[in-house]
Amino acid sequence: MRKSRSFSHVIYTWLVIFLGLWLLKYTFPVLDLDQGEELLIMVAMAVLAEWLAVVFPQGQLSGGFAVIMATYLIYGPVATAWVNCIATAVGQGVANRGNPMRTTLFNAFQYVFVVLGANLLYSVSGGLAERKVVLENAVPLAVFVLGYFAINQLMVYIYTLPARRGYPLVDWWDAMRWDGITYIWAVPFGLLMGLLHAKIGIYGTALLFLPVLAVQFVLRFYVHLELANRELRVLYEVARRLGGSLNLNEILELVLRETRKVINYHTGVIYLWLEDKGYYQAGAVCGPHSDLIAGSAVRRGEGFFGLAAEHGEAQLVYDTRADVRTAGDIGLTQAHRAMVVVPLLAETEVLGLLVLGDKRPGFFEEKHLHTLTIIGGQTAVAIANAQLYRKLEQASITDGLTGLHNYRYFYHRAVMELERAGRYGETFSLIMLDIDHFKQVNDRYGHLAGDTVLNGVAGVIRSEVRGCDIPARYGGEEFAILMPKTGPAEAKHVAERVRLAVRESIFEENGQRIQVRISGGIATFPDHAGEISELVKAADAALYKAKESGRDRNVLYEKKTRV
Ligand code: GH3
Ligand code: MG
Ligand code: MG
Repeated sequence: MRKSRSFSHVIYTWLVIFLGLWLLKYTFPVLDLDQGEELLIMVAMAVLAEWLAVVFPQGQLSGGFAVIMATYLIYGPVATAWVNCIATAVGQGVANRGNPMRTTLFNAFQYVFVVLGANLLYSVSGGLAERKVVLENAVPLAVFVLGYFAINQLMVYIYTLPARRGYPLVDWWDAMRWDGITYIWAVPFGLLMGLLHAKIGIYGTALLFLPVLAVQFVLRFYVHLELANRELRVLYEVARRLGGSLNLNEILELVLRETRKVINYHTGVIYLWLEDKGYYQAGAVCGPHSDLIAGSAVRRGEGFFGLAAEHGEAQLVYDTRADVRTAGDIGLTQAHRAMVVVPLLAETEVLGLLVLGDKRPGFFEEKHLHTLTIIGGQTAVAIANAQLYRKLEQASITDGLTGLHNYRYFYHRAVMELERAGRYGETFSLIMLDIDHFKQVNDRYGHLAGDTVLNGVAGVIRSEVRGCDIPARYGGEEFAILMPKTGPAEAKHVAERVRLAVRESIFEENGQRIQVRISGGIATFPDHAGEISELVKAADAALYKAKESGRDRNVLYEKKTRV
């Protein structure tokens, strides 16, 4: 699946590049080489616009479209395709923002389709052959601009599709909004340049472009302001929403999602410390390789991440290939050129790691580390809260001595089971177990030994019941086992297994070897009772019968056993 998709992406990329190249070659005879010098000036202006482009997380802003618009009006579609393609290749090739060569080539050659496609739409909508800037030509010109915008967005959207897998669509709308804003001021200047070219010549036209660059320059501050503002908003949003959530997965996903609004990373992972396993495990992943990374482990002190976790210090790597910390590493650091790791510290404990990676070397900067450290601090507190909540929740349904579920949980599950079984016409059983002559154990060996025995019997019960059964400490030295979808015969069978296993167990306390036996009573819904209290009564009655008839046995409830 993954292979075939990336294969079609390669085809798409190179098809656009080669077909674009062929189209340029094919249309070359149409180019008026007498205008060569003027076209070069247009290329130079477009390159300048590209170099001065304002880069922000989800894209970039450039007034270059003014040059394209003017070129189209003055020299026609073929010249525009040429100028646009060359300017993009040179502009992005030199002011490379960490993109691979094929991306630069794709960006350049897709413009051939964009320009010629938009021109086609212009003609179809009745545009004047000389592309005059007059009122009656307003609609076709608008069609040209909109067509240009739409085809460009579509082609780039398809190109970035594989890289976008696993990311929310939000970024795309964001990029489109910025692109749209660019057109609002680039188009009027483009029209003006096209309109006045005949009067003021190419140098006058070039002068007209200066205000566009000036606007672009001013916009840079606006964008930076907006970005700073957005960063604050994200920090606020994370703080506000983290405070309200006790769901761990929700917390982790929220952090990755919100972080991506300020730092447009390629891959984001949050590793969480698992006490029982003794390592950090990827709890949430954002990025195209989510399925590969999800569940992967980081061991404390091992590798680049493991060391960051051990020392509890944030790490920033500009280029993983050049940095000694990551040079010999394996895994994520090899799939990315730039990395940041922020330990999620609560008090002095590293609860987890926030890891971001990007394909472009130098992508992360010192200022990102500050933002991430704040987000990391909030995340750690939220994780600690969620884990504490989980522990409390667990404790409230667990019996402290035996670790089995307590009465409260047992009762809750029994009610749920009754409802479910009632609705689907199913059966379920209940076994009540009681240790025989337990008072004597306490009397002979002491209360502490009694506790050990209780704990031991609980362990036997836990290991003898099936995965779907719910064993609980009902109270004192009594246990209950709730058995969903189980009839009386099967329940009796399990009860026997537990009884024999307890019978064969030896519990040790202070060098004393203690053996006990148990008795059990079994009742089944709906055969013996239609309510929980009735079912418990029935099982109790059966248990009483077992005690009465000599102990160390299990008795199935029968109507006549009722006293
Ligand atoms: P039988 O059930 O066979 O009729 O006799 P028994 O001796 O077990 O009788 P009973 O159920 O009346 O006594 C239960 C005893 O279990 C009483 C109490 O001291 C003891 N017990 C209850 N809870 C605990 C506990 O948490 N720890 C210890 N050590 N003993 C407990
Ligand atoms: Mg007893
Ligand atoms: Mg008892």
